[in-house]
Amino acid sequence: MQYISTRGRTAPMPFTEAVMMGLATDGGLLLPESLPRADAATIDQWRRLRYPDLAGAVLALFATDIPANDLRDLVQRSYTTFTHPEITPVVRHGDLHILELFHGPTLAFKDVALQFLGNVFEYLLQRSGGRMNILGATSGDTGSAAIYGVRGKERINIFILHPHKRVSRIQELQMTTVIDPNVFNLAIRGTFDDGQAMVKGIFNDIIFKDAYQLGAVNSINWARIVAQVAYYVYAALRVTGETGSPAVDFSVPTGNFGDIFAGFVARRLLPGQIRRLVLATNENNLLTRFVNQGDYSIGQVVRTISPSMDIQVASNFERYLYYLNNEDADRTARDMATFAATGVLSFAAEQRQTIGQDFLAATVDEAGTLAVIRDFYDAHGVVLDPHTAVGVGAAQALREPGVPMICLATAHPAKFGEAVGRAIGRPPELPAALAGLTTMASRCTVVDADMDTIKEFIVRHAG
Ligand SMILES: *Cc1c(COP(=O)(O)O)cnc(C)c1O
Repeated sequence: MQYISTRGRTAPMPFTEAVMMGLATDGGLLLPESLPRADAATIDQWRRLRYPDLAGAVLALFATDIPANDLRDLVQRSYTTFTHPEITPVVRHGDLHILELFHGPTLAFKDVALQFLGNVFEYLLQRSGGRMNILGATSGDTGSAAIYGVRGKERINIFILHPHKRVSRIQELQMTTVIDPNVFNLAIRGTFDDGQAMVKGIFNDIIFKDAYQLGAVNSINWARIVAQVAYYVYAALRVTGETGSPAVDFSVPTGNFGDIFAGFVARRLLPGQIRRLVLATNENNLLTRFVNQGDYSIGQVVRTISPSMDIQVASNFERYLYYLNNEDADRTARDMATFAATGVLSFAAEQRQTIGQDFLAATVDEAGTLAVIRDFYDAHGVVLDPHTAVGVGAAQALREPGVPMICLATAHPAKFGEAVGRAIGRPPELPAALAGLTTMASRCTVVDADMDTIKEFIVRHAG
């Protein structure tokens, strides 16, 4: 399978090249030349597979230039770090099925993709004899998941910028207690936006980027999306099998649109078995307005109790836009230029109809999120994290009788103990992976939010 850019200005390339490239060189995002569709016999066979085997089978459709045995080994190893025997179990509570994606090392769904991506990077660098310096900015969850994905790996260093004193104590410790020699935590005196802007600026310095082989781990990387497709397939087959229903809906707490785009790819892969994707947002609701009113116009980012979704401009939206434009790359490039210039996109009636067939959407505000956590705990004795609660709230509003609803549980509640405590009157129990953090050794360098300072740091430590 070959990969192309949403903006149509790159030559087709194989999977491994797309993974190393991250963002397409024409500024677009990489996508398969055509999305695969599984036939009935394949789907039947998939129903019987354990998670790592199913993930291997799904990934094999997309990563056709990695030898089958190597790919199987990479996938198997990626999920040995998960603490649940089913990796991503689906648990029924009342009317809803909860897909638990938080059993990885940092207790958020990002581990599912970043454990795999770390192993793919290592494998490709061993093959090429190269090295890589990963650079990223985080507001909390991505940083620790990326660090755990590559800690201790030989040909890779990772530099993660987080805003000093502006991530939660647990999020900070999850990053800074990883003291492997290839891991560098930089606490910047500034905001997440400052960090993100510096990372963009450094990546735009092509000479520096090439000299230090900078690599990216944000969700524009195709390997992250495709690793997430697997759990949609797993959960859909589980729940259709158990309930006898021909199709399911999914509810997805959404920020950068990466996770729900993986759901879109899974929906194409399993024809007829995934009816709708429910796009759930907090008060940062550009995408809900897009689905419900066709209004794609940028607003101010507000801080919420589901901080990993405090995003207005979703970096993966362009991938969906490409399909909405009937795979017309020129039109997609024009749309993105318009949006960059005006902060607004508008859609034709025909496109709005397509959007309505793909998605339902709802916003759940802070009071609503706290109420969902409280009510779900009272009804089922289960504590949801605030991101998951946004998805559950949207699912409760939009579910239809007779269609099983699967809600993605994207983080463990203990990562967001303060908000959970407000909802249920006591902090959530700390799992072993978090309880030990406060007594562990940690390492972190506090620096000014200055691009040259960051570059110098990389030069000194890149090795
Ligand atoms: C990153 C994140 C999200 C949002 O996922 P996107 O792929 O950015 O839409 C939701 N919940 C949690 C807990 C996250 O860490």
